[in-house]
Amino acid sequence: MDDYRWILFTDLDGTLLDKETYEPGPSLGALGRCRDADLPVIFCSSKTGAEIRLYHERYASHPGSPFIAENGGGVFFPLDHWDEPPGGERKERFWKVTLGARHEEVLRVLVEAAGSVGMNVRTFSGMTPEELSRRTGLSLEEARLAGQRDFDEPFWIDGNEDRETFVAFEGTIEEGGMRLTRGGRCFHVHGASDKGKAAQYVRQRYEEAVGDVWAAAVGDAANDLPMFRIVDRAYLVKRDDDGHDPDIPRDGNIRFMPGVGPFGFSQAVDDLLLYSRDGST
Ligand SMILES: [Mg+2]
Repeated sequence: MDDYRWILFTDLDGTLLDKETYEPGPSLGALGRCRDADLPVIFCSSKTGAEIRLYHERYASHPGSPFIAENGGGVFFPLDHWDEPPGGERKERFWKVTLGARHEEVLRVLVEAAGSVGMNVRTFSGMTPEELSRRTGLSLEEARLAGQRDFDEPFWIDGNEDRETFVAFEGTIEEGGMRLTRGGRCFHVHGASDKGKAAQYVRQRYEEAVGDVWAAAVGDAANDLPMFRIVDRAYLVKRDDDGHDPDIPRDGNIRFMPGVGPFGFSQAVDDLLLYSRDGST
């Protein structure tokens, strides 16, 4: 890549992977082109480390590339390719770095806040894979991997809670230094981190290892926006309804790809490879 060295962050669900089938389709060829061009692709997803690890084993463009889990809650670096990163602890074949809050702490604040307002919560961590599978529609194996939380805790509220109780609950979570967000399926409690902070942390590790790098990112939704903000070139792919997420602003830094999911990912890779070769737009 001549004078340029690039790294590419990508979301998984609805971007690198088809939203319904979880298949990479055209992304596979694009990942091969990244491998040939020595462009590391860094997976950055709301999935758990245990879930992303399977996709990393199957599809990573470079076996040494780290991956970002649970919406930026933390990062996993393959042990045999990286020195111990700041804040790293060993977990199986990886250095695990917690960027938001430690999972035990997240869980403690959640359980105490629920107890203090008398709310009944059911956490992912507190469920058997069978129960989690029934609640989410995930297969038993997927539920087992999705339940292995490292940073963030998803949960449901059982029973009726009035608005006042919920506001008190949210306040107690925030007093405990955590954040409460509503996901597609359930609520989440997590520390103060996002995909952008995590991508920035990873970029710094690459810069320590190889000198200055340029960074690009591909995503499909609003939770990818913090990641778009810290890179030099960002790409938004279309969603299944053939439109772009309306919550993403049409400003200069973000390129809107005409393809849906993996088709858009492949287009983004082609654009980036051309751009990084030419060094111009
Ligand atoms: Mg997505």
